[in-house]
Amino acid sequence: METDVIGQSVETISSWLKKDKISFEDKCILVTGGAGFLGSWICDVLVRQGAYIICVDNFASGQKGNIQQLNDFDNFEFIKHDISEPIFFDRKIDVVMHLASRASPFEFARFPIQILKSNTIGTWVALGIAWKHKAKLLYTSTSEVYGDPDPQFIPTPESYNGNVNPIGPRSCYDEAKRAGEAFVIAYHIQHGLDVRIVRVFNTYGPRIRAGNIYGRVIPRFIEQTLKNKPITIFGKGTQTRTFLYVTDQIYGLLKATHNQNLAGEVINVGSNEEMRIIDLANYIKELATSRSPIEYFPLPVDDPKRRCPDITKAKRLLNWEPRTTLKEGLTFTINWFKQNLIN
Ligand code: UDP
Repeated sequence: METDVIGQSVETISSWLKKDKISFEDKCILVTGGAGFLGSWICDVLVRQGAYIICVDNFASGQKGNIQQLNDFDNFEFIKHDISEPIFFDRKIDVVMHLASRASPFEFARFPIQILKSNTIGTWVALGIAWKHKAKLLYTSTSEVYGDPDPQFIPTPESYNGNVNPIGPRSCYDEAKRAGEAFVIAYHIQHGLDVRIVRVFNTYGPRIRAGNIYGRVIPRFIEQTLKNKPITIFGKGTQTRTFLYVTDQIYGLLKATHNQNLAGEVINVGSNEEMRIIDLANYIKELATSRSPIEYFPLPVDDPKRRCPDITKAKRLLNWEPRTTLKEGLTFTINWFKQNLIN
């Protein structure tokens, strides 16, 4: 394992799964986007459980470094491939976990077509594999399917149909994920495929990318505070998000994948502690004991004003709720960045 922080957190997830008697031992699992932030954590956990992992990634936003520690395992196979192109497997696949997609708003402006393809055509390719192999499929959707929710739908339940601008700067991601969900449900209706959708809300932790077009708010603020550079607040910082530590997200995704009674279900997985971006900035600054000043920049177009999931369904169907406090999660993440930030 490349660092203690990750090793410790992988151990944590493994022990939670063991307690629940959730095992993927001897199953063959295809993880698309397996070299990405969430995908590589899934590979790390499942390889150690004794599953056979086929990790597919084209390194669009995924990174070789996220999976290099897995090359020593006989039950780990990597294929460099863009999932929006057809691909066939001889080995019988039991589970398809489709995570491949860029996810940072800065990437939306640069790679909108690729983002549309990985979530529409890519989802169709993943579903075709699941159909051929009679495999179960998990699709990682997003809170972005809700767009900029009407305030009366905060916290947002899965039944809310969303408020999305179909031609705005975020539409390549939001609409592609919505179309991806429609594809998944269509395969369930037409072919009876055992599918489930998790709507992933903002998640952070080791391996989340910082810098240039990849950085989401937490890695950006951590990098800025560790370098004592200005913290860049977009708008007034009064917009809100919730932040889930990666162990909790991976645990939710694996619970949703393992559960036998979820065919055709969609479930929010995220933290339900809503917080303003300015408060997040000050908290990270404090935890990182930084001298960074705060600087304000224009709010990006269509930036959602509030985001917070209703996680009642995850509690009911998965017996899942967040276990890691923001303080613990941010401390782990800051420590990881201290060891891994390229200056
Ligand atoms: N944000 C910010 N400064 C930054 C990066 C992001 O104020 O340097 C804000 C962004 O405008 C949004 C929130 O933080 O309101 C979360 O941004 P993120 O990039 O994590 O993605 P989002 O949740 O919008 O998909």
